[in-house]
Amino acid sequence: MPRAIHAMPFSDHDQAAMRLAIDASLQARARGDSPFGATLVSPAGEVLLVAQNNQNTTQDCTGHAEMVLVREAAAALGPQALKGATVYASGEPCAMCSGAMFWAGIARVVFAATQQDIAQALGGPVLPTGCEELLSAARPTVAVQHGLLRAEAAAALRGAVASAG
Ligand SMILES: [Zn+2]
Repeated sequence: MPRAIHAMPFSDHDQAAMRLAIDASLQARARGDSPFGATLVSPAGEVLLVAQNNQNTTQDCTGHAEMVLVREAAAALGPQALKGATVYASGEPCAMCSGAMFWAGIARVVFAATQQDIAQALGGPVLPTGCEELLSAARPTVAVQHGLLRAEAAAALRGAVASAG
């Protein structure tokens, strides 16, 4: 029996975790922040924390969802909780967030909307080095996957055009 050539590498658990991140992105938008969310899942598959962008509400330019996630998880659960964990990001993490996840010891990053989707929906500045490019070259390397619920996340971004900033 032939195997599907482009079989999706994602499980139901992956989808559920990404849905939480996309929901958080919509909550961020409703609050007046940029529409991004992220979910932290332990190596055992347990959802540990969901965070959302808070740049506008905290007046902190580093308040990207993945940064908030790393900070809140370390504070609430201790830095060990991040080691070997997976982050699901509704939008492709920027270089700042990719670096933060690397230093936190995250083992795997899954993102939905790409930098291109983000640029098309929101415009604005782009930090050029992509998450996959950066983290695949890191030592130790961080696994990066994308394509999971991309259309859903991109639609959530497009709904945010009016409040982008
Ligand atoms: Zn970022």
